[in-house]
Amino acid sequence: MAEYPFMRNAILKQIDLGAARCCLFLDDRLIITRTASGICLPDMQVVTAAGLQPACPIALGSCGPIDYVAASLAPVVLEAPFETVDLRSAYGLLSEQEYGIAGCAAQLAFWDRTTRFCPVCATPTERVTKEWSKRCPQCDFRQYPRVSPAIIVLIYRPGAVLLTRQPSWPPNRYSLVAGFVEAGESLEACARREVAEEVGVRVDQIRYLGSQPWPFPHQLMVGFLAQYHTGDVVIQESELEHAAWFDLDALPGLSPPLSISRRIIDWYLAMQDNPDLPFPPDPY
Ligand SMILES: [Zn+2]
Repeated sequence: MAEYPFMRNAILKQIDLGAARCCLFLDDRLIITRTASGICLPDMQVVTAAGLQPACPIALGSCGPIDYVAASLAPVVLEAPFETVDLRSAYGLLSEQEYGIAGCAAQLAFWDRTTRFCPVCATPTERVTKEWSKRCPQCDFRQYPRVSPAIIVLIYRPGAVLLTRQPSWPPNRYSLVAGFVEAGESLEACARREVAEEVGVRVDQIRYLGSQPWPFPHQLMVGFLAQYHTGDVVIQESELEHAAWFDLDALPGLSPPLSISRRIIDWYLAMQDNPDLPFPPDPY
């Protein structure tokens, strides 16, 4: 458990910018510092002392005495102790809390890069100072950081779970049925539809488990458990390479611990011996 909770704060003038810790991005890669004492997010003092100039920082909030900002760098060649990492690769390098903050920062930096102009009238947009939003000075159209909900669902029957595999994944990697929520669709209806589309079976007893922000670039993964009802497994070949029932004691390779997919499977296995085991809370 982190010493202080992360308190979001979008108001830049309430952040001590000169002393803030930075979630800096070069393109979509996170900048870290690697020193003898470990890997960390750089402080603004270290960043500016190195001559780096973050453009238009975005306030993120604070953890106790530490303020956080997000910003992007114009193309530059970094020198030690700075280096860039893919955000997925940063999992395990930073604390769970700072990894979550970096994910929030990545979503906001992506939003900032992709909302420079009004989509209605093409006028350059302006940041709103009191919240994470932008407005068009010409037509007042507002743009907020995008969050795209997607369901992810573990389908079970006695002693087995239904897992799927996409062709682009590493060999022997399997995961859960997942897909984006469509306009006008409930989360539960999305779960039923994605299961039917991807693996051709019907499910019921759909139960919400938990959620996870997934900043690649702006998904919110919403996890469910669903009981198999009827149907043979028939895969959607445009999406999947394989899907099958796996006995609980003979599971294939699974997603890394970073993902809610893995948390759901790990919890389901542990729950077999402890039916009252609650789903673990979101670390972010
Ligand atoms: Zn406009």
